Order: sequence, then structure tokens, then C-alpha cells
Amino acid sequence: MKCIYCGHSESKVLDSRNSDETNSIRRRRECLNCGRRFTTYESVERVPVVVIKKDGSKQPFDREKLKRGIVKACEKRNIKMETIEEVLDNIEKRLQSMTTQEVASTRLAELALSALKALDEIAYVRYALVYKNFDNTFELKTFLSLL
Ligand SMILES: [Zn+2]
Repeated sequence: MKCIYCGHSESKVLDSRNSDETNSIRRRRECLNCGRRFTTYESVERVPVVVIKKDGSKQPFDREKLKRGIVKACEKRNIKMETIEEVLDNIEKRLQSMTTQEVASTRLAELALSALKALDEIAYVRYALVYKNFDNTFELKTFLSLL
């Protein structure tokens, strides 16, 4: 994706948003050469992925929803939004490369957790507290002891 000002080919992504109407991703980018910002629209031919929740109900995969959970876990951890976008991109790539179009919500949480674990342990624990549904403090202690 070349910079529209100087033609440099490397830029970092500051923010991504899905646009369902146009089936594209709008990305706010900053050129690594001249530092100017621009917006790109990338059309995506994505396979719709369905998330199966614990109660068996199904929902279309929602990147924004996943992002909200991850952003919350990363609050005040000095993690850049572009890093979070990368995490989301990687998870989406994983989902797109699956052989089925369905993913269990628990599996999705595991994908987010393994990415967070590599990134920041506090963010990892926070995310786990919300999404792992520990039944009791013993389970929680066991989980924490594995850190
Ligand atoms: Zn540039």
C-alpha cells in the first residue's frame, strides 16, 4: 500500500474499521517515510465466519466486538492500537484459513488469549478473567500458577 504523498511502500496501520455495506476495510495509515496520514479502503473477499456460543447459538464473527474486549484488557498497559490491530489481523487470518466456517467462541477466546500472552501478561490475565468463566477460585489459582 503505497503512500499517496511520497510513494513509500511501508506504512503502519493506526486504525481499521469494517464497512459492511461496501464489504471493505477502511484503514487509517501513517507513512513510515514522510509521516503523513492517509486512508485506504481494501476490499476483502472474506468468507463469513460464524461464531458458536456456549449455549449453541450462532453469531457472525464481529471484529469490532473482539477488538473491544482486547482493548479493554489492554487498558493502561501501554500497548499501541496498531499492535492490537495486528493481533486482530492475525486472528482474522487464522479464522479465514480454517477448513470450516464455524468457530467456537471458546476457541476464539483462546486465539485472543495466546496473542495477549505473548504481548502482555496483565492484559492476558484480564482477558482470561472475562472470557474463561472460572467456576471457582481453585480454577483461577491453577490458571495463575501456570503463568
Ligand atoms: Zn509518505
